Amino acid sequence: MPATPAWPPKSAPRLFVADTLHPGAQVTIEGPQAHYLSRVMRVGAGDPVVLCDDATGEWAARVVEAGKRSVALEAVELLREREMVPDIWLCPALIKKDRFDLVLEKATELGVARIAPVVTRRCVADKLNPERARAIVTEASEQCARTALPELAEPVKLAALLADWPETRALYFADENGGMRLAEAIGSTPSACAGFLIGPEGGFDDQERAAIRALPQAVPVSLGPRILRAETAALAALAVWMALAGDWTDRDTHPDRGQ
Ligand code: SAH
Repeated sequence: MPATPAWPPKSAPRLFVADTLHPGAQVTIEGPQAHYLSRVMRVGAGDPVVLCDDATGEWAARVVEAGKRSVALEAVELLREREMVPDIWLCPALIKKDRFDLVLEKATELGVARIAPVVTRRCVADKLNPERARAIVTEASEQCARTALPELAEPVKLAALLADWPETRALYFADENGGMRLAEAIGSTPSACAGFLIGPEGGFDDQERAAIRALPQAVPVSLGPRILRAETAALAALAVWMALAGDWTDRDTHPDRGQ
């Protein structure tokens, strides 16, 4: 277990940057991230910042110069290599914006590897603003100390998702009409990689349900006797998977918690 680093302090701001980092890498931050650093966090020259590049991992960095519009930083040393993310995908039907935002944020916190939004017949929304979605998952990753961003796919129609579903990946289909108990399904699926398919506010229609069930990789699962809202279903399913097959089974994986 690595020793708890004394520098940078835990309170240092964390940011994902587009550049790939190396010791001495100079990074200039602009826009809302610069505003956050200089106006909200009030950083000045010499202050520590933690940077992630979604490629090499998490770096200690120092502010070289902080202005209102841009902040110049220098990467100092690698703190943690980019983590291995448990191989779980979430395929949520698009739902109303604020509720879908919640799914993006919370699924990221729960450790999802890939979010692949689906458009189904009863979807009230069929579009997603990719920049906004990316900003939400990036901010959630910064906040929860992920060193790898979740992949964010473009929304696709249900038929396309099913047609392209990888042969060796289980597709747990959350069916409010009933299915296998989730823990049992996870325990009995041989492959370690999987995905969850969650319907929209109005659920799937019968034709969609039949098409999903016809896919050999599909495993209809029940999330209990109550009808959950789509966002609750997505997050509850992910949490159960993380506890049974994901990284909630690992111990002492966080550097600050090592002993
Ligand atoms: N058909 C619905 C509600 C849909 S709930 C209605 O009566 O209006 C939205 C989605 O959450 C569902 O399509 C399903 O994927 C998931 N879901 C909700 N409750 C569930 C449960 N108890 N078991 C499995 N999936 C559930």
